[in-house]
Amino acid sequence: MTPTFLTAGSTADTLIRPTHDRRIVGAPSTIDPVTATVLPQLTDLLELIDEGAPYLQARVLCEVQAGPHRFPVHALTLGNPSPAVPAVGFFGGVHGLERIGADVVIAWLHNLVKRLSWDDSLHEQLKHVRLVFMPLVNPGGFWLGTRANPNGVDLMRNAPVDAREKVPFLIGGQRISKGMPWYRGAEGAPMEAEAQALCDFVDEELLSRDFSVAVDCHSGFGTDDRIWFPYAHTTRPIHHLAEIHALHAIFAKTHAHHPYVFEPQSVQYLTHGDIWDHLYLRARSRPGDRVFLPLTLEMGSWMWIKKNPKQLFSRLGIFNPLIQHRVNRVMRRHIALLDFLTRAASGYQRWLPGSSAAREQHRRTALTRWYRQASA
Ligand SMILES: [Zn+2]
Repeated sequence: MTPTFLTAGSTADTLIRPTHDRRIVGAPSTIDPVTATVLPQLTDLLELIDEGAPYLQARVLCEVQAGPHRFPVHALTLGNPSPAVPAVGFFGGVHGLERIGADVVIAWLHNLVKRLSWDDSLHEQLKHVRLVFMPLVNPGGFWLGTRANPNGVDLMRNAPVDAREKVPFLIGGQRISKGMPWYRGAEGAPMEAEAQALCDFVDEELLSRDFSVAVDCHSGFGTDDRIWFPYAHTTRPIHHLAEIHALHAIFAKTHAHHPYVFEPQSVQYLTHGDIWDHLYLRARSRPGDRVFLPLTLEMGSWMWIKKNPKQLFSRLGIFNPLIQHRVNRVMRRHIALLDFLTRAASGYQRWLPGSSAAREQHRRTALTRWYRQASA
């Protein structure tokens, strides 16, 4: 079956032969076969890229050297490429130790790709929304088993944003040594290739639209699953607090028993160099009031450790569930969230506060819920 939007003249050309690609490596065959097998997540991804064609488009944004391997950083796109439709971006594997984040994005992609062959409603949905993916942002860190990339830089502390208030020592981002975690990179240095690739991809695919959401999947903090929204560099609320609250409201209404703690990241701790703060600020600097809502899913790995304390003795076990039934539960839970975000983006005009009165009401409720101050 041909995707309906592939038959739409110039749109088809844009989709089949993108002109803006830095390096198009649509076919996974260009990747060294040994390299493709040393990371199971990369193997899964390459299979899905093959199976998802021609609906799923793949390209390599950059390549990263780690040991003897040169790893591709893939970007995938699915759905209507028209800038007139909303979009959702799914990101994983920013931190090499947090494998479950990449696994969740790949599981969601797997769900979509398998449905392409039989699910009419998915094809209908894809006419109205753009879905974009970077499931494995830091393949070098994955291979090395490090949080940072192969240059020792923490990609979530690497953006050119300085916190306005005091950040916790080290964890908030440090420039003392790349031998320690949370290293931001040298002062004034360009962003790391993986971080730059992510920013360029978001710029092109998400910030070009009237409405977009991003979700970046991490693990490791606390016992609860958290959904964080900006900011990480200040305790001040974001401009789109009303829109975030409206999104939270339809989520809570639809998934009455959802397990997530939904909150601004600043409630937990502040950091320098947060890539989503950087991208949100970039979106804000553009003309017009486009809505870009970047979320971070922070899966609470301490629960997996509590249930299986042996995991404390494994570096990966601190960040990932190691028992199969727990992995299955994690996948089921978060796929429901990613599906919700896809539907919420498709129908954003139905729930986004339209009038200034509705916006103000959401903003006030959100300030009471998430911020101490009465106004901002
Ligand atoms: Zn992380």
